[in-house]
Amino acid sequence: MQAISEKVKRLPPYLFAELGRKKTALQKKGIDVIDLGIGAPDLPTPKFIIDALIEEAQKPENHRYSPYSGCFEFRKAIAHFYKRQYGVELDPEKEVLTLIGSKEGLHHLIQTILNPGDAVILPNPGYPVYRTAVHLAGGKVIDLPLQAEQGFVPDYTLIKKEELQKAKMMLLNYPSNPTTATVQLNDYLKAITFAKENNLLLVNDMAYDLITFGDYKAPSALQVEGAKKHAVEFGSLSKSFNMTGWRIGYVVGNKKVIQALATLKSNIDSSQFLAVQKAAAIALESDLLEVKSHSQIFEERMELLYHALTNIGLKVQKPRGTIFLWVQVPKGYTSMSFAEKLLQEVGILVTPGIAFGSNGEGYVRISLSVSKERLQEVIRRLKTIEFKGGT
Ligand SMILES: *Cc1c(COP(=O)(O)O)cnc(C)c1O
Repeated sequence: MQAISEKVKRLPPYLFAELGRKKTALQKKGIDVIDLGIGAPDLPTPKFIIDALIEEAQKPENHRYSPYSGCFEFRKAIAHFYKRQYGVELDPEKEVLTLIGSKEGLHHLIQTILNPGDAVILPNPGYPVYRTAVHLAGGKVIDLPLQAEQGFVPDYTLIKKEELQKAKMMLLNYPSNPTTATVQLNDYLKAITFAKENNLLLVNDMAYDLITFGDYKAPSALQVEGAKKHAVEFGSLSKSFNMTGWRIGYVVGNKKVIQALATLKSNIDSSQFLAVQKAAAIALESDLLEVKSHSQIFEERMELLYHALTNIGLKVQKPRGTIFLWVQVPKGYTSMSFAEKLLQEVGILVTPGIAFGSNGEGYVRISLSVSKERLQEVIRRLKTIEFKGGT
């Protein structure tokens, strides 16, 4: 049978699925694998959101199709959240759109903007979904190399002029997966200026907007004066409210882009279950105290593992947000051989940096989504390892 398209046949296997298979194989041999590979919080969704879902699910009016752009209650809650959190005004009718998670939205946005052959500037290393989405849309990728020396914040002079001319959009993601880097508002000013000068749409992925540590607060690109002319921003309840399985997110910003994406989506999906949207509205309208206490849990885990890794001689930049640590691999290893060593010798699964692009080489991403007790076990096991030529 010749039924599968070239496009799909050429999709790289979703890396996390492959790691999952290796984990299962070891578990079948009776090994207690600690999975620090997965990029999802382990904590439960706050109870008040579950209660809201139960209540909304009982109402027959919520069993119908949602309006194509999402229900007004949710869009209004998003606009209100932006006003409170960032001081940014959004028109809930025209500048806000419900998504069935950011991943869906990113794919469809790229379909909305690209013609075959158009290029997109993507962070390298970056979230692998961006690259796949560009591939499926028949587009080309231009690398935006993110480097440790610059704190993994973009240096736009690294993009060649002749490449830039083909580019239609640029993606950024801060607080960053996988590098854990964070930015200041001034970095978004630079990004918007660059987008304006080169006639690009700036797409900022803020999946970790509320998972921040200490007194650091993640800014929004839309706080830059005039940003809505050049940018859209993605938000998701997945990470901040521990709602990955609920599939609920949003995109805000440029009206024309939002309208076009809404038109595309109205032909593909019919938005999210109304009860999920209404419960998500209640989440965003809340005092965000639960989000804060979840962030504190991630911060404590981060501190614990950060100090342990540093003590055994591994180099780690201390993050101000996200649910990860981005760890330099010791001399004599590649990201893959180091990840393989951890898995085979001590049953710890981490993600090799190369999975996030060529510039991820030399790093592994360690997820903080296990309990402190489990992290103590991780630390105990790590201390038993010997590295080639020390660290
Ligand atoms: C997890 C993640 C997403 C996906 O979020 P969903 O709303 O669950 O689809 C998007 N971007 C980044 C960088 C992520 O880490």
